[in-house]
Amino acid sequence: MTHSSTDNANEPLHPELYVIGAGPGDPELITVKAYKVLQQAKVVLYDNLANRELLDITQPECEKIYVGKRPYGDYTPQENIHELIREKAFSKGKVVRLKGGDPYIFGRGFEEVLYARQHGISTYYIPGITSMQASGFEDIPLTHRAISEGIWVLTGTKKDGRLSDDLKLAMQSNATVVIYMGMKKAAEIADTYIQAGNGNIPAAIVQHASLPHKKVAVGKAKDLPEMISSHQLTHPALIIIGWVVEVGR
Ligand code: SAH
Repeated sequence: MTHSSTDNANEPLHPELYVIGAGPGDPELITVKAYKVLQQAKVVLYDNLANRELLDITQPECEKIYVGKRPYGDYTPQENIHELIREKAFSKGKVVRLKGGDPYIFGRGFEEVLYARQHGISTYYIPGITSMQASGFEDIPLTHRAISEGIWVLTGTKKDGRLSDDLKLAMQSNATVVIYMGMKKAAEIADTYIQAGNGNIPAAIVQHASLPHKKVAVGKAKDLPEMISSHQLTHPALIIIGWVVEVGR
């Protein structure tokens, strides 16, 4: 085991992993608890979607390592992230894994926690505001009395790359449907709605929610591909389908 130069050699080293949520984008939407942990971090492994400004909270000697996965582009394999967690926790102590939104919502955060535990590393979880909650900034409440009785939160891209079959079930309900990682599946999502006779349900796409450069398109479920092309929308974006989209309009 090695110690960094700033460590007190007499202090016992505690291998720890803090899996923390960075929030949807606006750096001020991180929790106070996560902020405090970042101030004490020896190493931060951060995601593509975690706002880089949050790294300024750390001490100058904190090691910051980018382990982002860009969709359809270069990425750090999950095994490498696991290996880094292990190596850094045992050599430096407090490792922070900073993930966009909430770490346990389509974030693979719990896989990292399980891996760390298997290797004798203490683990801690600090929730984050998940990106769909930033839809409120667009006057889209995810539930609204007498309009939506709940929320279905789905991934547009399963492990095998396919759209979740749950979408067909979700559509039959009165719930607001929120789709993460669904941009490449917009045409398929629209077709699924059209085929079920639900093409006219209001829909919104929110890109870079909570950030100054956010983009929003509002239309109907059947028009999702058109909304993407006319507003030139791209990742990261959320697709929200349901009557709540109309309430504030
Ligand atoms: N753990 C994250 C989700 C990671 S999956 C969370 O809780 O938000 C990645 C997907 O999250 C993206 O494909 C996109 O659908 C969504 N996403 C993350 N940040 C976003 C943002 N600022 N605006 C819109 N969508 C976002």
